[in-house]
Amino acid sequence: MELQDSIDVVKNIGLSRAKQLNKMGIATVEDLIEYFPRSYEDRSRFTSIDNINIGEVNNFKAKVFAKPESMRARALTIVKARLYDGSGYIEGVWYNQPYMKNVLIPGKEYVFTGKVTEKFGRLQVENPDFEPFSQNSLNTGRIVPVYTVPSKMSQKTIRGCVKNAIDGVCREINEFMPENILKERRLCCRSYAVNNIHFPESDDAFFRARRRLVFEELLMLQMHLLQLKGNVTGKKSSIGIKDYDASPLLAALGFELTKAQENVIGELFCDLRNGTVMNRLIQGDVGSGKTAVAMTLAYVLIKNGYQAVLMAPTDVLANQHYKNISRIFEALGIKCALLTSALKRREKNDAYENIAKGEAQMIIGTHALIQEAVAYHNLGLVITDEQHRFGVRQREELAMKGKDPHVLVMTATPIPRTLALILYGDMDISIIDALPPGRKKIDTFAVDHNYSKRLYAFVKKEIAKGRQAYIICPMIEEDDKSELKSVLAYTCELKEKIFPELRVECIHGKMKNEEKQEIMSLFEKGNIDVLVATTVIEVGIDVPNASVMIIENAERFGLSALHQLRGRVGRGSEKSYCILVSDAKNKTSVERLKTMCRTNDGFVISEKDLELRGPGDFFGTRQHGLPEMKIANLYKDIDILKEAQQSAISLYKTDEKLKKTENKLLKIRISQLFERKIKKICL
Ligand code: ADP
Ligand code: MG
Repeated sequence: MELQDSIDVVKNIGLSRAKQLNKMGIATVEDLIEYFPRSYEDRSRFTSIDNINIGEVNNFKAKVFAKPESMRARALTIVKARLYDGSGYIEGVWYNQPYMKNVLIPGKEYVFTGKVTEKFGRLQVENPDFEPFSQNSLNTGRIVPVYTVPSKMSQKTIRGCVKNAIDGVCREINEFMPENILKERRLCCRSYAVNNIHFPESDDAFFRARRRLVFEELLMLQMHLLQLKGNVTGKKSSIGIKDYDASPLLAALGFELTKAQENVIGELFCDLRNGTVMNRLIQGDVGSGKTAVAMTLAYVLIKNGYQAVLMAPTDVLANQHYKNISRIFEALGIKCALLTSALKRREKNDAYENIAKGEAQMIIGTHALIQEAVAYHNLGLVITDEQHRFGVRQREELAMKGKDPHVLVMTATPIPRTLALILYGDMDISIIDALPPGRKKIDTFAVDHNYSKRLYAFVKKEIAKGRQAYIICPMIEEDDKSELKSVLAYTCELKEKIFPELRVECIHGKMKNEEKQEIMSLFEKGNIDVLVATTVIEVGIDVPNASVMIIENAERFGLSALHQLRGRVGRGSEKSYCILVSDAKNKTSVERLKTMCRTNDGFVISEKDLELRGPGDFFGTRQHGLPEMKIANLYKDIDILKEAQQSAISLYKTDEKLKKTENKLLKIRISQLFERKIKKICL
């Protein structure tokens, strides 16, 4: 039997089981042995019948005392068997399994696992799992694996299949991890790991097995990413900086930088001074003032004769950046240009020309910045804002537009540390860990639709005080199957019935760019009181006078999105509020909303998000384009991740392409793994 054989070669897997397994994504023998258990049950310890715990699941070893009896009660067939272990008796009961009568052999010893009850003073165990007692049984008397299976397939069946597959290929489970890594990280060998992850000999064996497999999965992922990215920090930079004086800009900003901002700027300048290409991620919660930090760096590069580019994920945000940055930069004599796909042909051509000639020094835009037609003059710095909205590839493409420009990446979605390590494993990380002074905590409440009236009254009160409000709806078109309020219908209702005396407008993704701009600038000027919006305003938007954020159908948003949306308020000196409206009752939704009410800390929220959604989902919805993990848990395995990352980096440094003999097997393994998945990975 070979690892790549189709699973029907495995003993006891016929066509119908093969089909069921295929549906679970298991096609080959290798898929099956790498179909790791979801959890385990410890059935390794036996209880004697006189010590049995009533109301709980017990493991016990007993003989069948007499021939089982079968009887009928209405539509049920009931088989009962008296079991005895020397310390006492218990009755085994099976419903609608008439064959049990002939399966259980009197006098023979079995191991049983099941919930024990007491009925009419007698002990009873209903539908227990059982197996003839033997030293190496699969389903009882040991730590047994529990797999995710479709309802038609029993745990016993899949356990048997996995066992047969492992036995069939045992000699093929070869080691591919280089010897020195195994030694250095004190990892067990692969065949031991595979055996013990499914059928652990002991707790300790399980932990060793799991650690090895998690390490292996993360090491290969890291290595693959490093190879794709093709660079580890430390490349020599040809960009020369002579003048570090940013004081004219700092004076023009209109506020004092926070200590946290200053620290990060210090780190950026350090990067410039040490002569290597900067490759840095700035994490800072919403509203922490990342833009000012980026502007300071851009200012220095520009003053030294280079161009700087800032790429944002949405038109709305690019326009906002352009407006704010150019207002300050132009006053300091720096020429700015905007480039988005929404520009008219002529405007675009003008922008291209200005950029190519180097007349534009600070260039701000969207994805349009990485189009082929754009040629830069003397690109020294590329900044991506809200990086989590882009793929890794786009960051690279932008950097490739210049000759090793410095790269600065900013993100507000505080990516959990584990994820940051994977996604930005090749970057240095700076954190802006404080908000500008004077910010008040945003009070957050979760309410259901019964509160609508009070909510509307509250909005009116805030607006009477001179504030503005956002109301977020998850969708833009009426969807009559669900009860989602459409932005359009809802806006009408608000305009005509609820807030007839207020200025209500809406903004959504299907609108033309100019219309969006128009609405945003009216809102910024305070000429709109209530802005009904979809998530087009999720990231970046900065209107300090807005103090109320209402999120309808809040259960439809992930935690990170909710946090981003909430970050649109609380940007000025006024007290701000976020109200999450939801009728959802399911546990995850409720917990999500509770988390939002409890904390304003983006890092806490993102960790919780990852925990609630699971890493697969986290990757999936955020479209990071990374494969789903088979065994590693990105929430819990941070320590192993760090080790794997160190190993990957040193491996990459010594043998980038894995050409050395001792690394060949690993190379093959990585390419097999990602070749199959490469179509799914959109890096
Ligand atoms: P984010 O980190 O979410 O991108 P911004 O850069 O948009 O945050 O900044 C949020 C708001 O805080 C902006 O209005 C900005 O002008 C203001 N701001 C930034 N830094 C400071 C500071 N040090 N003191 C006061 N206000 C600041
Ligand atoms: Mg921002």
